[in-house]
Amino acid sequence: MPEQANPFESLQAQIDDAAAHLDVAEDVIERLKHPERVLETNLTVEMDDGSLERFVAFRSQFNGDRGPYKGGIRYHPDVTRDEVKALSGWMTYKTATVDIPLGGGKGGIVIDPSEYSESELERVTRAFAKELRPLIGEDRDIPAPDVNTGQREMNWIKDTYETLENTTEPGVITGKNLASGGSEGRVEATGRSTVIAAREAFDYLGKDLEGATVAVQGYGNAGWISAKLIDEMGATVVAASDSSGGIYNPDGFDPVAAKQHKNETGSVVGYDEAEEEITNEDVLTLDVDLLIPAALENAVDGDLAEDVTADVISEAANGPLTPAADRVLAETDTIIVPDILANAGGVTVSYFEWVQNRQRFYWSEEKVNEELEAIIVDAFDALVETYEEKDLETFREAAYVVAIQRVVDAYEEAGSFP
Ligand code: GLU
Repeated sequence: MPEQANPFESLQAQIDDAAAHLDVAEDVIERLKHPERVLETNLTVEMDDGSLERFVAFRSQFNGDRGPYKGGIRYHPDVTRDEVKALSGWMTYKTATVDIPLGGGKGGIVIDPSEYSESELERVTRAFAKELRPLIGEDRDIPAPDVNTGQREMNWIKDTYETLENTTEPGVITGKNLASGGSEGRVEATGRSTVIAAREAFDYLGKDLEGATVAVQGYGNAGWISAKLIDEMGATVVAASDSSGGIYNPDGFDPVAAKQHKNETGSVVGYDEAEEEITNEDVLTLDVDLLIPAALENAVDGDLAEDVTADVISEAANGPLTPAADRVLAETDTIIVPDILANAGGVTVSYFEWVQNRQRFYWSEEKVNEELEAIIVDAFDALVETYEEKDLETFREAAYVVAIQRVVDAYEEAGSFP
């Protein structure tokens, strides 16, 4: 098995690639390659049987030049300090790509949540919220859901924060449920931007999305919503996978029924409309028009990229392609809509949620989706303009060129302190 790329090194390589096309001094770029600060904490939490367990947790605040730090918190046994640092950097360039007034941050707890009861998870989450309390706030740092976290965890964090601060401040965190001050459309937002980005890329290539074949790797929130929405747009979902394996039917299947099967059994595997069982790797290399990687980092490395045949890749996950994979796919003219644009719907609707929380005035789902559509399409157009103007090699480079310039502008306008 080849050595896994370090996501933090991947982020830095992506920044260097783009910096070569920007007129920005090297010392300023150096600043943009490292987080401003990282909290590392050990949470000691009582289990249901009375024993104590220690959990390592991180929060990386990468850059606040354009606004409060913003980004999710993931629960996963493979969380590392470098992974969280990389993810916080990707958030910085994501909020800049879609031009919303936020910085970048990310958190994570090293935990496999499937091994703990709900009350244990609540205590772990509240213990982390207590550690985060001095760092977060609606004008400081605003966490959100990420891998294996959702509305439930966000509500616990909000409640812990508000209780300790003796205040009401729903905008301290986003991705809450509606009753706790969440936004319409937030759950679907990441999948929605992934498919809008795919649609724009097909348009750019002069290809029809109607009837196009689609493979989706990862069937969590981002993956399954992407599958559902792309099916509604007239494309045909032929393959999907999760950590237990993949399913395939060359004639397509109903992505909602596949999700129901996963809800009932824990996996898409065994879903009877798509009986052919394939591996996670097969899903990535199938002969399809559109590939949506929607799981974790490093899904496609340089070797696997040799076998990827999709015309368009829309990255629902963060960091699913390594820089080596990017180099291989640049040679084959595959259009890759990078994560910092394709999955930016999540943080964009988080931004809407925060705006609504601060105004104490809530929008309809229709309005949320309309505003989201406009932001993603504008960001895509800005990316294409830069790609063509600067004659760049990849869409990723173009997104970073746009995003880095925006962060640099904010930094330089502010002047330096002290
Ligand atoms: N975790 C999501 C992301 O990676 C959403 C972050 C947010 O809403 O702040 O973009």
